[in-house]
Amino acid sequence: MHPASIPNTPFHIKISGAGQLYKEFGNSLMQDQTLINLLALLSGSIEDTRQEMDLIGVINECADCATSVAGTCCGERTGHKCDMLLLLINLLMGRTIPGIHQDGGNCYFLTPQGCSLQARPVICINFLCARLRKNIEHKKVILLQQIAGREMDALFLVEEHLKKTELLRGYRNSRPAIYPPSSSGFIHCTIPDCEGR
Ligand code: SF4
Ligand code: SF4
Repeated sequence: MHPASIPNTPFHIKISGAGQLYKEFGNSLMQDQTLINLLALLSGSIEDTRQEMDLIGVINECADCATSVAGTCCGERTGHKCDMLLLLINLLMGRTIPGIHQDGGNCYFLTPQGCSLQARPVICINFLCARLRKNIEHKKVILLQQIAGREMDALFLVEEHLKKTELLRGYRNSRPAIYPPSSSGFIHCTIPDCEGR
């Protein structure tokens, strides 16, 4: 997509703004050992949630649901709940944010490989549909919620730390210009030694 054709909506400005913040401050932010430690905590807790989802059958249920029943529940409006800070966190974690909306009816961040975000919004972390509540044993669902709660706590800590970071002071008041995607349509991670995903 040519940069000039990127919609200038508040949502797209959040995406381009995260890219701009990352481009401008990413390397400096990653000199902060506290941030590095908090990102590692978040990454570990995300993996714990994913493993538990796999163990109790949530991932299988969702794969079956998405391919044979209802289709994905990752709706367009859910993606709009991702704010600039969350997207910046994903870039700092080495994720690549799509530069184009691949399926207009679904969440902007949904790709054929699944969710492109590592750090997802809280609404996605703790969402349990009726099918999951019906098909997964209640005590397993409770344990999953406890584990997912640790992911939300870790996300909160990263967000709060970034909000207090001097480098990002005033980001809330800024209205960044559209950040052009690369020729492939993706905003690339440029953390040294990170191969992106
Ligand atoms: S969370 Fe529920 S509705 Fe969404 S894909 Fe999984 S089983 Fe389907
Ligand atoms: S899990 Fe990812 S793709 Fe699905 S709604 Fe949430 S952010 Fe979008």
